[in-house]
Amino acid sequence: VQGSPRGVDVVAFDGDDTLWHSEHLFTEAQARMAELLAPYVERDELEARLRETERANLPLFGFGVKGFTLSLIEAAIDLSGGAIPARDIGELVALGKSMLDHPVELLDGAAEAVEALADHHPLVLVTKGDLVHQESKIARSGLAARFARIEIVTNKDAATYRRIIAATGTSPERFVMVGNSLKSEIEPVLAVGGHAIHVPYEHVSHHEHVADLTALQGRYHEVASLREVPAVVAQIAARSIDR
Ligand SMILES: [Mg+2]
Repeated sequence: VQGSPRGVDVVAFDGDDTLWHSEHLFTEAQARMAELLAPYVERDELEARLRETERANLPLFGFGVKGFTLSLIEAAIDLSGGAIPARDIGELVALGKSMLDHPVELLDGAAEAVEALADHHPLVLVTKGDLVHQESKIARSGLAARFARIEIVTNKDAATYRRIIAATGTSPERFVMVGNSLKSEIEPVLAVGGHAIHVPYEHVSHHEHVADLTALQGRYHEVASLREVPAVVAQIAARSIDR
């Protein structure tokens, strides 16, 4: 990746719930599962058990829709004491498949932000989940050609970002990550010395928070919309040349 003469070399984006909608599919699948299991269990207990099952399965399945679907099935069997009919299991499988081939819906301003930034910076897409599903979403997003590099990763931790920053030939202080998740895109990037722009998503499923914002020396930025991202990147770039 060729470096830019300005203070920012590389701008990286998360995919799910940053460039395209994703979380609502999980929420809707869970609501349908709750209907199927209404004869056996209360909604609250179902949600708690499903979260627990997903967490326990994460080391085996990794993140993504396929693992989520298997966890739906496992939790449905457990919560119904084995009584759930095969046709309902079949419906959970169909639900998982419909999540996998659901149309990719870009967030407002995603195409414009990517277009605007691609003129000035090499862009990297850093996304996590099932390889086939992520590849298919990237292809269907219409944005693939704008990215100099696409990274589909298992974990979004500091080591992952260190590797990506090194692979693009830049240094952390000239790297900007844009994402909706504080845990996956903001905290680990700040931890390795990069800049992070948080674009919170409307359907955040659990509360997250950044540990110590005061210690970050202006490397943490929050915007309400992707439309603001190009201007924030320009500010970061301008500030780092002044230094
Ligand atoms: Mg995301």
